[in-house]
Amino acid sequence: MISDSLEGVRALPIARSVSELRAVVDGWKAEGLRVGLVPTMGALHAGHLSLVRLALSKVDRVVASVFVNPTQFGPNEDFAAYPRDEAVDAAKLGGAGAHLLYAPDVAGMYPPGFSTTITVSGVSSGLCGDLRPGHFQGVATVVAKLFLRVRPDVAVFGEKDYQQLLVLKRLVNDLDLAIEVIGAPIVRETDGLALSSRNAYLSAEQRALAPGLYRTLRRVGADILGGGRVDDCLAWGIDELKALGFGPVDYLDLRDGATLERLDDAPEGPGRLLCAAYLGKTRLIDNIGV
Ligand code: AMP
Repeated sequence: MISDSLEGVRALPIARSVSELRAVVDGWKAEGLRVGLVPTMGALHAGHLSLVRLALSKVDRVVASVFVNPTQFGPNEDFAAYPRDEAVDAAKLGGAGAHLLYAPDVAGMYPPGFSTTITVSGVSSGLCGDLRPGHFQGVATVVAKLFLRVRPDVAVFGEKDYQQLLVLKRLVNDLDLAIEVIGAPIVRETDGLALSSRNAYLSAEQRALAPGLYRTLRRVGADILGGGRVDDCLAWGIDELKALGFGPVDYLDLRDGATLERLDDAPEGPGRLLCAAYLGKTRLIDNIGV
């Protein structure tokens, strides 16, 4: 049965099984309503809620999913430790105006015998694709399942995970899915740090250093647009991040904003400057348009 998430607070219905989900979405479709999907892994913050609001501006009903997907975590990553608090997430989603929380469990997503993996080549290579083997296969497979289960008209993803956004656009295009994939701008703290569920791992000292990532991206972007040699600007940025206390720096790279192909010179069309770097054990990612 569909259950209410929190008593006394705005009751956001929660669907756990495919049949519960379908009953709700089919009802909406029968009424001619357009449906949006916002996939998340929970531990929700204002960035996630901005996606819900963007979806609400495009469609009549919004499903937010919360599923910490084991297949997109590497063996040494933080799957077990990833923060989980469904009641708080449900209250936040209800407050933001979502209409349904879809929260399947791992066995419901990957029943015994599950054997299918979706590989999106090209945009999945390089950057996070090289440093997190299997990550984008895990993402593409679970998001394809969410798409097929929810059958949304629109799906919203954050530019925070820029490579992921392009992987999912490619997936939808290649598989002829009738879903409009929309990218949402990165929501930041006032000091520039991109909101992330993983920011909770930062110590007070690391948190104070963390905005240096965005500051460095902006400085490198401005230097490139100001005529600096791309290689020199990137090398300066990596040194700067290390001097600020980041390390290792997984990558700092200038890419084409649509294809993620590496750019050796200042972009003529939209470019993207992307970075992944550790602060202690926490891996932070960020990117800006250039
Ligand atoms: P996650 O729960 O980390 O898998 O993220 C779920 C969705 O929220 C993804 O589409 C992310 O790109 C997006 N997201 C995460 N952080 C932010 C942010 N600071 N601003 C905008 N979108 C975000």
